[in-house]
Amino acid sequence: MLSKPVFGYAKPKFSYELLSTAFPRPVTVPRPAQATLLLPREIGPAPSTKLKVGTRVLTGQRLTWDDGPGPSVISSFTGKISAVAPQLGDYGRKYTAITIATENRDEWDGAFAQACGQINLATLADYLSGAPGAPPLAKLVSPQKPIDTIVIYGGDTDLLVDSNLYVLKTRTDAVEKGIHVLKEATGIEKIILAVPGESFQNFDGHFAADVRSVPNSYPSAQPLMLFYQIFGRILNQGQSFENQGVLFMRAEAVAAIGAAVASRQVAVEKVLTVLDKQGNKHMVSARIGTPIGSILQTLGITLEDRDRLIFGGPMTGTAVYSEEQPVQADTDAIMVQAAAEIILSSDYPCINCGECVRICPSHIAVNMLVRFLEAGQYQEGADLYDLYSCVECGLCSMVCVSRMPILQYIKLAKYELARTVPAEEANE
Ligand code: SF4
Ligand code: SF4
Repeated sequence: MLSKPVFGYAKPKFSYELLSTAFPRPVTVPRPAQATLLLPREIGPAPSTKLKVGTRVLTGQRLTWDDGPGPSVISSFTGKISAVAPQLGDYGRKYTAITIATENRDEWDGAFAQACGQINLATLADYLSGAPGAPPLAKLVSPQKPIDTIVIYGGDTDLLVDSNLYVLKTRTDAVEKGIHVLKEATGIEKIILAVPGESFQNFDGHFAADVRSVPNSYPSAQPLMLFYQIFGRILNQGQSFENQGVLFMRAEAVAAIGAAVASRQVAVEKVLTVLDKQGNKHMVSARIGTPIGSILQTLGITLEDRDRLIFGGPMTGTAVYSEEQPVQADTDAIMVQAAAEIILSSDYPCINCGECVRICPSHIAVNMLVRFLEAGQYQEGADLYDLYSCVECGLCSMVCVSRMPILQYIKLAKYELARTVPAEEANE
C-alpha cells in the first residue's frame, strides 16, 4: 500500500512568514464559465424542490435543498444550475455539488440587504456561514453551553501560507466592523485577537478587542495550540472549544462579516496563497466555487502527469484529485507539487528512531501512539498516549524516517472517536 502524505514539497521554514508592509496585490481570477458550490448535506432521497437543473440563481442567493430547515450555501455567481450531484469530502463527509453555468455579470439577490435592516445572529448565520473564512456562526445560534469568548486568529495555520494574515493587515476596517457586528449580535464582550509575532505592534489599540501576540514559531497558530497558550489547558476527548465556552474564528471570517454588513452584500471573494512547482508564492483572489483549474490557468501553471494538487499548505494540506475541485470558504492555500518532488509514504514499520518524539511540540510519545492508531485502537491511543494533546501540526510525519502517514492516522482517529463519543460525555 502506498499512501500519500503531502510533505515533500520544499524544505519548510519553521517560522510563519510575516508579511512585510509591502503587501503583494492579489491577482484576481476571472469569472469561470462553470462554478461548483458544495451544499453540506447528502443528496436526496426525495428530489429537491429548489435545486433543479435550468433554475437561474442570483449572486448572494441562499440555496437550500427544499423549503424546510437545513443547511444552505450562498451562490457566489449569477447563472443557471447545470448539474446537481453527490460529492464526497474528507473522511466520507457528504455534499451536494451544485454546478452553475455562470453569466458574465452579477445580478444580486436582495434578501440579505433587506435582512440587514434588522441584523441578528440567525440572519448572519443563514447568509454568512459560507462566507470567506467560513465564519462558524451557526455554533453561536444554539450552543450546547454559553459561549463567552471569541478568539479571532490573525495568523495562518500552515507554513508558507499568508492568506489570513494578509486579510488582517489589509482589511483592518472590515475586521474592526466585524468585531462590532459580532459584539452587537451575540452580546459577547470578550473578544481576543491573536496575532503572530511583531504584527502585534501595529494593531495594539486599533481594535475593540484584547490583542495578544502569539509566538511566530510553527505551530503556535494552530487553534489547539492557541487554546493552550491563551487558556492554559488542553481539550480532552469529547470536548470542543465551544463546550469550553470558546469560539475560534479566522480574521478573514470576521472581515467577511464586517464587509457584508457594511455593503449589504454577502462577501464571495476568497483570498488564497498559491504555491507553485518551483516554490514561488502567488496571492490570488477568487470567488468561492471557482475551480482550481481556473486559478492555475490564470497563473500560467500547468499540470503534468502525476503532479499533485493539494488543498492547504505543506504541513497539513490534503491531496485533491481533480482540477474541477472548487475553492471553498476555508480554502486558504493551493499547492502544486511536481511529480519528481513528491515523497511517497510507505507501509514500512516504525523503527523507533525517536525523531517524531523529539520534534513533537506537544511532547507526545508519537512512536507509541502510532502503533495503536495503525491497529485501529483509537481509544487506547487516546487513553494511553495523549492523542488529544496533538495539535495536528504534521511535524512528526515530516521527520518520520519510515515515511509513516502519522498525521493522517491522527486525524482519522480523532474523527472516528468524535463520531462515537456519547453526547453527555462531550458536555462534561
Ligand atoms: S503528534 Fe505529530 S502532529 Fe501531533 S502535535 Fe505531535 S508532531 Fe504535531
Ligand atoms: S519518526 Fe517514524 S520511525 Fe521514527 S520513531 Fe517516529 S514513527 Fe517511528
